[in-house]
Amino acid sequence: MKAAAFSYARATSVANALELLVAYGDKAKVLSGGQSLIPAMNLRLISPELIVDIGEITELRGIAVRGGVLRVGALTRHVDLLRSAEIAAYAPLLTEAVAHVAHPAIRNRGTLGGSLAHADPAAELPASMVALNATIVVRGQARERRIAARDFFTGIYETALSAQELLIGVELPIAQENSAHFFQLARRHGDYAIAGLAAQAIVQDGLVTDLRAAFFAVGDRPILAKAATKLINIRITPAILAEASATLGEELDPQEDQQASAAMRRHLAKVLLARCVSALLGRPDLTPGGTV
Ligand SMILES: Cc1cc2nc3c(=O)[nH]c(=O)nc-3n(C[C@H](O)[C@H](O)[C@H](O)COP(=O)(O)OP(=O)(O)OC[C@H]3O[C@@H](n4cnc5c(N)ncnc54)[C@H](O)[C@@H]3O)c2cc1C
Repeated sequence: MKAAAFSYARATSVANALELLVAYGDKAKVLSGGQSLIPAMNLRLISPELIVDIGEITELRGIAVRGGVLRVGALTRHVDLLRSAEIAAYAPLLTEAVAHVAHPAIRNRGTLGGSLAHADPAAELPASMVALNATIVVRGQARERRIAARDFFTGIYETALSAQELLIGVELPIAQENSAHFFQLARRHGDYAIAGLAAQAIVQDGLVTDLRAAFFAVGDRPILAKAATKLINIRITPAILAEASATLGEELDPQEDQQASAAMRRHLAKVLLARCVSALLGRPDLTPGGTV
């Protein structure tokens, strides 16, 4: 199937893109890498009247470290994240996560901003932003807003962005001393995860002193697990882990679909939590019968 007829405008600046978005309201859609938007249009899931192509706005591209903050522009492509020395040094969780996004052809065109604005609950990058405690920067004609990643994702394909705003970029705190991360997912090759976990932690003297565990594909948005608080600043035993795992099972409300039942997704999340703690602490005793 092909997309319904639409008009096309190549925005020359952020201000120009915002003018177009305000003029067309809900009838316009922003185009970044097109890896989610174009398939949705071809399937006629959406039929915008106007496409606002922001691909040539160079100020939306790039990765820089300033004032202890890693800033990544919305138009930064997945492949650029993957190859970036700054990301590898200061947010290595992201390097690992983006390697799992789709396959090279998609990663060559897809962008960070597109992935976050699209907000697929099974996507790797939204959960990574939540784990990394990122701030999402969005701009409208009147003002710029800075939104904590955990508040940005509001439902399946839903975010705090309005139709008249552009996602400009993200700000990430740079990894501190004793930072550690974990990223793992259960998936079908080259496709979205069945369940996944992106986690950022501080590990000191055999203790996890901070843990942001963001699960994906097990709810309508990335889920920052409250169960992780049971694992902080405590000598973790299999019994403590089992308690955290039970809490996790209660707080998750996964969807059932053709790939997996809700029970299977909940089970996979628990396995991922155990593997995460085991890997962070170098404690294979916490994953009996499983490999890390
Ligand atoms: C076969 C296939 C497999 C895939 N597998 C995965 C996978 O395993 N994991 C994964 O995470 N993703 C996967 N994707 C999606 C891919 O990562 C997309 O590139 C990404 O979701 C969207 O990025 P984009 O730049 O292409 O955005 P676009 O397709 O251009 O836009 C996506 C949406 O975001 C909006 N938007 C884009 N940029 C902005 C902005 N700056 N401000 C406001 N709104 C904006 C658009 O209007 C649109 O609604 C897959 C895609 C395909 C086709």
